[in-house]
Amino acid sequence: MSGLYIHIPFCRKACNYCDFHFSTQLDSMDRMVDGLAKELRLRGSTPKSPIDTIYFGGGTPSILTEKALNILMETIITYYNLSPSAEVTLEANPDDIDPNKAKFWRRAGINRLSIGIQTFNDKVLKVLNRSHNANQALKSIDWVRQAGFDNISADLMFALPEASDASLRADLKTLLNLDLPHLSIYGLIIEEKTVFSNWKSQKKRSFPSDLDYERNYRIVHAELTKYQYEHYEISSFAKNAHFSRHNASYWLQNPYLGIGPGAHSFDGDNRSHNISSNRLYLKQLDTGRAHPVVEALSLTEKMNEYVMTRLRTHFGLDFEQFEKKFHRDIKSEHLILINQLCSEGFAFLDLNKLKLTFEGFLISDDICARLFYPTS
Ligand code: SF4
Repeated sequence: MSGLYIHIPFCRKACNYCDFHFSTQLDSMDRMVDGLAKELRLRGSTPKSPIDTIYFGGGTPSILTEKALNILMETIITYYNLSPSAEVTLEANPDDIDPNKAKFWRRAGINRLSIGIQTFNDKVLKVLNRSHNANQALKSIDWVRQAGFDNISADLMFALPEASDASLRADLKTLLNLDLPHLSIYGLIIEEKTVFSNWKSQKKRSFPSDLDYERNYRIVHAELTKYQYEHYEISSFAKNAHFSRHNASYWLQNPYLGIGPGAHSFDGDNRSHNISSNRLYLKQLDTGRAHPVVEALSLTEKMNEYVMTRLRTHFGLDFEQFEKKFHRDIKSEHLILINQLCSEGFAFLDLNKLKLTFEGFLISDDICARLFYPTS
């Protein structure tokens, strides 16, 4: 195994666009931390599984108290073989960050922070129902740097209601001034059962169109690549090769273990996931064992997953590796399409790999669909 993901299923309040699994009932936090530690123990193995990356995601991991984070880190160190050079990331919201907390995270073994900024525009932050403001976001970066963090990523969103091209450019300018090594930049997608989807269906507010989305994405790509950020994955940008090692292991289909309600795992062959309910997750653990639901993938599904995850990154679709894994010569089988994608500027060949250009990223779903093998 290489990656360990721990889902902290709590948030101070619900953002209007979010469909992740979380609860705002923070009073059950201690019980959940005991449950997470229990699942970590139950799913540990002998000999201990090696861990190269840990990712505390959520929800809002920065909500964890010092005691709670110490319990989880100590359990990991006891039951897993944590590499001394492991990347240990914690997702943090700006309103949870203060100088003391940042220093504590360093002491606890966190060496990478992913900070949920989304925008520096206070009016838009209110529409998103975020719990922080722009000033807190700027101060939080200062504080984590003072505490010694240099491996910092920020999340930014585009195609947001109430935002404009000018406000997106202002956000990018602020981010560029901060000179962070990694940025994750997402366009708003209106997910079902969110406040935004409700507003949209009831026509309570207008949302950016697909054309706005594409124009904004082009602005993001152009501005960041102009300032030496490599657009190495559809939504990720890194300076000086500061790629997210944890996320790269998802895209490279390395095994990972997901702990916590709603968390997903991959053992190199099959995927599994935990139940997305805090109450039922804890109840299942009371039986003395973990209850991940295994999703057996057919060979065709595995091939299609390989195509999809590889093409979303600069790692590219490796023809040789594909043939070794699946005994199919995808390059010959799709030669006409591959040549067409390359001649039209959507993709290019890098040694024996097919990689998408930015124009290809824009239509990656269509490209993948054309390369997929039929599932029935
Ligand atoms: S803080 Fe993050 S996980 Fe929580 S509701 Fe907002 S976007 Fe979702």
